[in-house]
Amino acid sequence: MVALTVQVPAAASSLSAIRHWVFDMDGTLTVAVHDFARIKRELAIPQEDDILTHLAGLPAAEAGAKHAWLLAHERALAAASQPATGAVALVRALQGAGCRLGILTRNDHALAKLTLDAIGVGELFDDADIIGRDEAVPKPSPDGLQQHLRRWGIAPAQAVMVGDHAYDLECGRAAGTHTVLVNLPENPWPGRADWHFADCRALLAAWQQRG
Ligand SMILES: [Mg+2]
Repeated sequence: MVALTVQVPAAASSLSAIRHWVFDMDGTLTVAVHDFARIKRELAIPQEDDILTHLAGLPAAEAGAKHAWLLAHERALAAASQPATGAVALVRALQGAGCRLGILTRNDHALAKLTLDAIGVGELFDDADIIGRDEAVPKPSPDGLQQHLRRWGIAPAQAVMVGDHAYDLECGRAAGTHTVLVNLPENPWPGRADWHFADCRALLAAWQQRG
């Protein structure tokens, strides 16, 4: 009897062995810039209220107008996005090494592309490898990450989810991937990430230390 067992690589034991990288965007690859206090002032929303919840309770015409203002404001923010420390060098190095790159964001798909272009890495991500809030159940659900795994035809242990929020780590754990936390030097969630780095520059340095 001929054995047809497919040889699946053992779970990556080091960061440098991982070939499939999924990134959160806002606050991970970019410097977080949303000024929620200003948005609330502009839209006459009480400071203690949640923006989207407040808008949902308004008459349709008023809600529509304020949603339109919000989207235009977010588009301006996206266009003015600044890269987080080391983020551009990291994704360029990974892409240069032949790694597969994906985005999983709670932001809008078109604004994600605008943001990635603004920080100079848009050409490194295939459009199909960018999953926004309208294409998956939002994190911490593993839905979007599992979509990446299926499209790439890989096992969860062959991928890593990189983010700056507990949602990113919970998403990765739920999908069974590795997890990396960046941009929070004081890790508020010890034990939830496989690796923790101060920023993407430190992550890149660790990745480059290949055995
Ligand atoms: Mg984030």
